[in-house]
Amino acid sequence: MKRLGLVYHDDYLKHDTGEMVYDFGTEQMSVGLEFENPKRVKLIKEMLEKSGLLNKMQTFHPSPATTEDILRVHTEEHINNMQRIAKEGTGKRIFGEEVYGSDVSEEIARLSAGGALKAVDIAMDSQYDVKQAYALIRPPGHHATKEKAMGFCLYNNVAIAARYAQEKYGVKRVAIVDWDVHHGNGTQDIFYDDDNVLFISVHEDGYFPLEGGDMEEVGIGDGLGYNVNVPLPSGTDDKGYIHVFEHIVVPMLKEYQPELLLVSAGQDPNALDPLSRMLVLRPGFRKMAQMMREVAEEICDGRLVAFQEGGYSLPYLPIATLGVLEGLMDVDTGFEDPHVVPIRTMHEDVKQVVAKCKEIHQAYRKMLN
Ligand code: ZN
Repeated sequence: MKRLGLVYHDDYLKHDTGEMVYDFGTEQMSVGLEFENPKRVKLIKEMLEKSGLLNKMQTFHPSPATTEDILRVHTEEHINNMQRIAKEGTGKRIFGEEVYGSDVSEEIARLSAGGALKAVDIAMDSQYDVKQAYALIRPPGHHATKEKAMGFCLYNNVAIAARYAQEKYGVKRVAIVDWDVHHGNGTQDIFYDDDNVLFISVHEDGYFPLEGGDMEEVGIGDGLGYNVNVPLPSGTDDKGYIHVFEHIVVPMLKEYQPELLLVSAGQDPNALDPLSRMLVLRPGFRKMAQMMREVAEEICDGRLVAFQEGGYSLPYLPIATLGVLEGLMDVDTGFEDPHVVPIRTMHEDVKQVVAKCKEIHQAYRKMLN
């Protein structure tokens, strides 16, 4: 079994996104909690406890990220906006396009980013005897750009973590693999002209955000060839994702040779998720996590951090995340997934996406075979 640190704080439950309300003009109706709600991480934590996995992990508590930490990625104006919106008015706050919260949400977003930083410390600092960590944090981060909140994200946790690793530990090359079902537009925006961060986003084609995430977005200036988008057809399952990891993600990481590997682990490509049309199950998540662990062990002394991004099926998010942690820790909890569906053959279009992605990126680097 591999040792894994878990970064978590109960205060993540205080980020209250409220209820989803449909407006019929004179009448309104609530259809329950917003998709990104506290129950998500609460259920993951409970799953870890009940499965016995938590006892095998080392748990760490984070401190909030400082303004200096956040300023490595976001503009001062963005930070001021987040603080102002949190303080203004009463009830549900709107921090940006599809970003909801309350008066404490800016503080909890700092604690979420702080969880990302703690996880980097665990991976990089020799005082800890683990080199891999899972940051069970919220709000998520990968849609937040330098200057705006978006898609449930106030601050871009993984980007703040990458810059922190470079500044505090002198890491030159960082790779970020984003398997959240939605394009990591914020992370792309932040590192688009930077060859010291390789960003690979594997996502559902033509979904949120509706603009961007195309294969032809390959970076600019120094960053040319260091931004990789793999937009997959709806209905892609375990086999399709594993095909992409085998043929694009792992070979690119091996060529890039990062000193630290970060994963934006949004488990929303799961087959039961309300915010995607993909078919990934626990074995697929376990395999992707295992591949990331193995490649980190091969190329960067095992230094690997995964950050909670999306995942909105309350029944399946804990099971999908259990798969990720089993893959990272190289254990099988023996939990019997009640939602197993027959494994389909791989979506045929995935092969075409992989072939085209290779063709585009062969222009920049010699990767692949
Ligand atoms: Zn997502």
